[in-house]
Amino acid sequence: MEQIADDVFQFPMLLRQGVNAYLIGDVLVDAGGPPFGRRIAQELRVEERALSAHIVTHARGDHAGGSHSIVEECKVPVWAGAADVAVLESGNVEATGLLAPVMRLMGGFEGVPVRRALHDGDEVGAGFVVLETPGRTPGHIALWRERDRVLLCGDVWLNMDMKTTRRGLRDPARAQTIDREANRRSQARLAALQPAVVGFGHGPVLDKDAAGRLAGWVA
Ligand SMILES: [Zn+2]
Repeated sequence: MEQIADDVFQFPMLLRQGVNAYLIGDVLVDAGGPPFGRRIAQELRVEERALSAHIVTHARGDHAGGSHSIVEECKVPVWAGAADVAVLESGNVEATGLLAPVMRLMGGFEGVPVRRALHDGDEVGAGFVVLETPGRTPGHIALWRERDRVLLCGDVWLNMDMKTTRRGLRDPARAQTIDREANRRSQARLAALQPAVVGFGHGPVLDKDAAGRLAGWVA
């Protein structure tokens, strides 16, 4: 794990930080796909860090797939955005239309019980508060710390092209985004915060001119 800010660490889990989880204080944020939960738990053991909770930014298999292992191995409660609780508990990703079977296949995961439904403004530890950022999923959340302007944005943006692994801001995949207009509003809300450091679900951390880049995207 790599430190990216005071009391904030990144777990890069694929080549070129293709999938990321984060540790804020003693709270794990996201857990990657199914193989990664055990790997994160193992790394936490090696670093002798105990968790108090596990937050999932949104109910999709590449963020919550490892959560079952985290719950099992670290014995911690799961917290998630209120509107994503049902999907997170069932593991059944709802989808309609032609792509539904593909989405179910790609996005499904082993459900986990959610102990705390998170809402806008909730404090979750290490100075972070919850920001509701719907779009990718109805209950998608980001985490924001005002004092040093650190933002964990989940999949509101990706900072990587998932096919070529080329870095750079991107919208989350169209087919897997429930409401693209809502996601654009979430992007505008987050850019307006003028973050100094941004951690993404996919792609490298942005810590050089982060505010300028997000503002440029929204403009
Ligand atoms: Zn993702």
